Amino acid sequence: MPAPETHTGLVRRARKIDRMLAETYPDARCELDFDNPFQLLVVTVLSAQTTDRRVNAVRPTLFAAYPTPAAMAAADRAHLEQIVGPLGFFRAKTESLLKLSAALVERYDGQVPPRLVDLVTLPGVGRKTANVVLGDAFGVPGITVDTHFGRLARRFGWTEETDPVKVEHAIGALFPKRDWVMLNHHLIWHGRRRCHAKKPACGACPIARLCPSYGEGPTDPVAAAALVKTQGPA
Ligand code: SF4
Repeated sequence: MPAPETHTGLVRRARKIDRMLAETYPDARCELDFDNPFQLLVVTVLSAQTTDRRVNAVRPTLFAAYPTPAAMAAADRAHLEQIVGPLGFFRAKTESLLKLSAALVERYDGQVPPRLVDLVTLPGVGRKTANVVLGDAFGVPGITVDTHFGRLARRFGWTEETDPVKVEHAIGALFPKRDWVMLNHHLIWHGRRRCHAKKPACGACPIARLCPSYGEGPTDPVAAAALVKTQGPA
């Protein structure tokens, strides 16, 4: 029986996995389009229960009509509902955008605050959304524990925690802060393209040798290759 992995061994293995994922996905980045922090905040809120590509498709119309928090806070509700309609849950999403924009205007002078403690006080903004905005719009290191990140961190044997905040702290302890933002993207890209929730493509996985969950999906190279996606969900 192999000896249990030491903490140092875990840190080395985790960082090696991240390096290999960086080589595998050299284009990894936020798959939501945005031009400024306000846009990223809004599209991240809109991305709940839908795909990034659908959100990207409505983004030009949305921000052409309502480019600032002040403009969006004063939006005609029916018009906003019509724009976000293709994303589903359009009434709830419209309500979120109106409340979020109003809070930015009333409490932050129409600016997106660049601090976690402030972002999480905004309507509809949880820790995950706040960390996306901090990392990708402000360059402030944060770990974004979405469904992919949590699943992969557990499959890799990096943590057994299921609570997102505990996962965030456990993984943060394995990597230097400067690596956090890209680590998010590497795991999310791997989760969307190979390490699927159902049927991960283990036989076509570059980190199979370092993954204790190898075999959770097909190990046959041909069967596994058929499961690999070249881009995120449509
Ligand atoms: S070996 Fe399988 S479970 Fe492990 S990371 Fe690769 S696809 Fe995911």
